Amino acid sequence: MFSLPQKAADIRSEVENFFNESILPNNQLWHEQNQQGQAIPDIEKTIRQKAKSLGLWNMALPHLSENEPGMQLTNLEFTGVAEVLGRLEWASRIFNCHAPDVPNMELLQLFGSDAQKEQWLQPLLEAQFGSSFAMTEPQVASSDPVNLETRMVRDGDQWVIDGTKWFASNASNENCRLIIVVGVTDPEAAKSRRQSMILVPTDTPGIKVKRNLPVFNHSSASGLHPELEFTEVRVPLTNLLGEQGAGFAMGQARLGPARLHHCMRAIGECEVLISLMVKRSKERATFGKRIDEYSSTQAAISLSRIELDQCRLLVQQTAYLLDTVGNKTARKQISMIKVAVAKTYQTIADRTIQLYGARGVTNDTPAAWAFSRARAFRIYDGPDEVHLQTIARLEQQEQDETLLEHYLLNQ
Ligand SMILES: Cc1cc2nc3c(=O)[nH]c(=O)nc-3n(C[C@H](O)[C@H](O)[C@H](O)COP(=O)(O)OP(=O)(O)OC[C@H]3O[C@@H](n4cnc5c(N)ncnc54)[C@H](O)[C@@H]3O)c2cc1C
Repeated sequence: MFSLPQKAADIRSEVENFFNESILPNNQLWHEQNQQGQAIPDIEKTIRQKAKSLGLWNMALPHLSENEPGMQLTNLEFTGVAEVLGRLEWASRIFNCHAPDVPNMELLQLFGSDAQKEQWLQPLLEAQFGSSFAMTEPQVASSDPVNLETRMVRDGDQWVIDGTKWFASNASNENCRLIIVVGVTDPEAAKSRRQSMILVPTDTPGIKVKRNLPVFNHSSASGLHPELEFTEVRVPLTNLLGEQGAGFAMGQARLGPARLHHCMRAIGECEVLISLMVKRSKERATFGKRIDEYSSTQAAISLSRIELDQCRLLVQQTAYLLDTVGNKTARKQISMIKVAVAKTYQTIADRTIQLYGARGVTNDTPAAWAFSRARAFRIYDGPDEVHLQTIARLEQQEQDETLLEHYLLNQ
């Protein structure tokens, strides 16, 4: 029987107890406060203080060395915790384990100067404010980051930034103080050395929020995805994050664990959906039979279980590889989980909607929201096709063809 390390089981059960006692019973209240326009509902702030005081805080940061912040869990140890956090859209924030702040903190941890860490990482570790990551642009195909057009030019002791970004999640949230902007600093350099990352405080003159983009006509106070215009935005040269020209490589480093975390949370959400499917199918009857007696219902539930457990094993294997051989060597598995989990997530959400009938398309169950998130997940952090391209290329490189001809007869 496959089992996770003892430390992983212990921390998961601690988080699960806290989730069951302090978070889940407040779900209705959280939604009411969010609908009243509270981007960070009061109940979330209260529970967050409680989690922090118990030390259940910053669990998703990488374990780089003994002196690093956070609980220093390995990726594998975090998998079980992330599943619990994925059960509700707002649970990750309670423990300061949410995107985009975690990947942004990770960038600062990996590449920030001491001064940048003090100014930006420390307050993010304390959740004093939020952050955003602005790479995608409306005018260019941004799944290929070498297309980016935003220009970041040196002028004396400042960088001057001009360009348009969109889907910079959280940037228009009132709590957001930092945007990590990706743009072109070296247009003549080799393609992968053209971009850099610059730390831009949200109150810098020249930043305009043009609009908040709804996702499937849904816009919540906490999930804002704005379009931003940067017009002659000036920041000090010291706001460059990492090396000039290293933006592409840093982006790849950021996305490895981030994709893993998204996948693990999605698996937790799918567990909830499967449980809700089982519950619903026992409660309703049509044409003289309970819905769970129909083979189509049994197939919906069984296939969901098979597909989800396959995904979990793949995700756990990828987490183990990230811990043992690193992002670069595990890039095929990272692409594999991104495609597999997003597809499974969408399929399970779709089956749940179907079983709940009309109620399934309302907000009374988490299924409709899950479906829209799953559909978007097939695009953000890299569209399916781009990951399939990566997997196929690596598969081609890894093939050893020496003995293959023996399988082919009559040549
Ligand atoms: C909810 C949500 C949140 C997001 N949050 C952020 C964020 O915080 N920060 C940020 O910078 N961005 C964010 N994004 C943007 C996201 O990362 C991009 O949408 C994604 O990288 C794709 O870029 P694009 O939209 O420009 O699509 P394009 O690059 O234009 O691609 C469009 C389509 O073209 C096809 N395609 C592309 N390449 C290939 C290929 N190699 N082979 C075959 N087909 C291909 C695919 O069907 C693809 O979906 C978010 C997006 C969403 C939906």
